[in-house]
Amino acid sequence: MSLAPPDADARRAVAPVICYPVESLPQPDMALYTAARQTLTKVDEVTVPPRDAATFSVPAGHFFRITSIEGPQVGDLNLWHAADLTERFYSGKTRALHGSHITTGQRMWSSFPGLRPMATITHDSLGWYGKDAFGGSVHDVIGTRCDPYTHNLLAGGQYHYCCHSNLTRALARHLDVPVAQAEPHVHDVLNVFMCTGFTRDTGQYFMKASPVRPGDYLEFVAEIDLLGALSACPGGDCSSEHSSDVAACHPLLVEVFAPAAGALDAWGPPRPNGYDRSHGA
Ligand SMILES: [Zn+2]
Repeated sequence: MSLAPPDADARRAVAPVICYPVESLPQPDMALYTAARQTLTKVDEVTVPPRDAATFSVPAGHFFRITSIEGPQVGDLNLWHAADLTERFYSGKTRALHGSHITTGQRMWSSFPGLRPMATITHDSLGWYGKDAFGGSVHDVIGTRCDPYTHNLLAGGQYHYCCHSNLTRALARHLDVPVAQAEPHVHDVLNVFMCTGFTRDTGQYFMKASPVRPGDYLEFVAEIDLLGALSACPGGDCSSEHSSDVAACHPLLVEVFAPAAGALDAWGPPRPNGYDRSHGA
């Protein structure tokens, strides 16, 4: 045990400072999106089977909705810029900008050097949940995705239907490439509908039964042309375990909607980040 300095209590009492003040973060025009989402027409849909994943495409300025349809189910979401898969969802930076869980008005940000909004949440039917007594909340950007490597490390064996593998297979099918070529594109996810937090005493990542009910949905507007992949996690509602075939699993529905012509005329896709990339060299 390390020795505390005499002023340990005073040091602990220093008030925290928010790392990234939201006041300087470019804000989405939610009034415009709210008006546009009243005009939506469905143009596509895909059902994600349990313990599997599926891809979907959303043009910039279209909306997409992930809906729980048969029973409580958590979804692991990957997003890529459709024209360049190296620009992909950056879970860690999204967490730094918005916090551990995201909801209406917050965004999924892309990796460097793009660092721009890929999608903005326009409706969250679980917005009522807030934060529970354990510090848990829904739609986290703290977990990574369940994967067969961690499963092998902790439990041994070969399990092939973790979200990481499901996303890998779905992307491989979409790109028509071997799984080994698709796998490096799979990245840390947005845990849709998952209820998670950190334990107060040990700071460990925890999960608990998702409050999601059939009909609940999370809706986004695509800020840039997107390729998405969604896995219906083998953990089901993630109330007990994942990385196995034990939990009850349900499908998820992804729907893509077009707004009425002119509804987003005042909007334009965000440009890639303005940093010149010379890095002082
Ligand atoms: Zn999973």
